[in-house]
Amino acid sequence: MIEWSDTDLIMRDTVREFIDKEVRPHLDGLESGELSPYPFARKLFSEFGLDVMAAEAVKSMLDKQREGARRSGGLGGFAEQASMAAVMVSELAGVSIGLLSTVGVSLGLGAATIMSRGTPAQKERWLPELMTLEKIAAWAITEPDAGSDAFGGMKTYVRRDGSDYLLNGQKTFITNGPYADVLIVYAKLDEGVPGVDRRDRPVLTFVLDAGMPGLTQGKPFKKMGMMSSPTGELFFDNVRLSPDRLLGESEAHTGGDGRDSARANFAAERVGVALMALGIINECHRLCLDYAKTRTLWGKRIAEFQLIQLKLARMEIARINVQNMVFQTLERLKAGQMPTLAEASAIKLYSSEAATEVAMEAVQLFGGNGYMAEYRVEQLARDAKSLMIYAGSNEVQVTHIAKGLLAG
Ligand SMILES: Cc1cc2nc3c(=O)[nH]c(=O)nc-3n(C[C@H](O)[C@H](O)[C@H](O)COP(=O)(O)OP(=O)(O)OC[C@H]3O[C@@H](n4cnc5c(N)ncnc54)[C@H](O)[C@@H]3O)c2cc1C
Repeated sequence: MIEWSDTDLIMRDTVREFIDKEVRPHLDGLESGELSPYPFARKLFSEFGLDVMAAEAVKSMLDKQREGARRSGGLGGFAEQASMAAVMVSELAGVSIGLLSTVGVSLGLGAATIMSRGTPAQKERWLPELMTLEKIAAWAITEPDAGSDAFGGMKTYVRRDGSDYLLNGQKTFITNGPYADVLIVYAKLDEGVPGVDRRDRPVLTFVLDAGMPGLTQGKPFKKMGMMSSPTGELFFDNVRLSPDRLLGESEAHTGGDGRDSARANFAAERVGVALMALGIINECHRLCLDYAKTRTLWGKRIAEFQLIQLKLARMEIARINVQNMVFQTLERLKAGQMPTLAEASAIKLYSSEAATEVAMEAVQLFGGNGYMAEYRVEQLARDAKSLMIYAGSNEVQVTHIAKGLLAG
């Protein structure tokens, strides 16, 4: 793949039109938190028939499961439409990465975990409403004392109580945490096995519903960027969990423990960051070219100054590099190949740094206007920085790249 296909371009223009009409006029409200992102996400889904497609894909998967047919997991119809999804993601990221994240986490992490780890009954219980965005999911691993060291340092725990579990602890920085209807929560089994260090105890994955006794969903945090994505804390005080809330309904899941469940999402999440980075780079590139061609100083357009040209040239290099990484990944996905964790980490690290640098340089190119919210590049710079921190901080990506290089 060396270019977007004609179909991708039609999709891009249609999404762009939708965003210009339905999202851009409300950006101030979304950024201030005055407007909830969820009605916008649902509108996007219904406009492009994604709710109907998702409902059909889930129904057909559940029907097949009921008939006993085997299916390999994944997001049903969405997997085959990788480049269409990529176009949508990058278009939206350039305008409201927060809005995109609410959907991305709900589907790509929340629903996807139930899809890959749940029993047929669990899929039937939660997926139909999640896949159509009627309900929103959160995916909670991070804790105040366990971010990069998520599993070893995890303090949130469950204790067996008859056939149930009691959940206690706290999570933080959870996308959709304040408003999620369904919450995927990772917790350590707090039962000492002689000789097994607390850090190495099994991690189990549960599904909670909003409103359960003992569950508190905190208010949205004030953040640097991604304002339209509510991020918050979760508190668990003796939340009683029946065994049908343990994903797979077995402590010995065939897919490994909660660590494996979370790791299974890492590569896809990191490729997703590259798509978002591409969206931010494209938007900065477009805004800067327009501005450089129209802003006049000393009787010249600033595009004629070599130092401005250097900024534009570096943006173009970042755009080509990140786009090529995205194209190569899409091509491999179409051939049924997922990048290795080390490759996905390298893509994530490079593209998030490139987007942050491009967006900061965009602010600089706009001068004082760049520092003003009206010109949007300051929002893009604040948004881009988040890409270097979540989905595994960039320092942690280095460790994963090195591990891949040094293995064997
Ligand atoms: C906007 C946003 C949304 C998020 N959404 C979610 C969500 O939905 N669900 C969820 O579970 N989490 C979520 N997170 C949490 C995110 O995954 C963590 O913030 C991230 O993993 C980093 O953990 P930390 O914040 O605890 O930083 P720390 O782990 O405390 O890191 C502090 C510093 O140490 C560095 N560091 C850590 N380990 C090493 C090492 N081995 N070598 C060198 N340097 C190292 C880090 O890179 C960082 O610079 C979100 C975060 C943000 C900002």
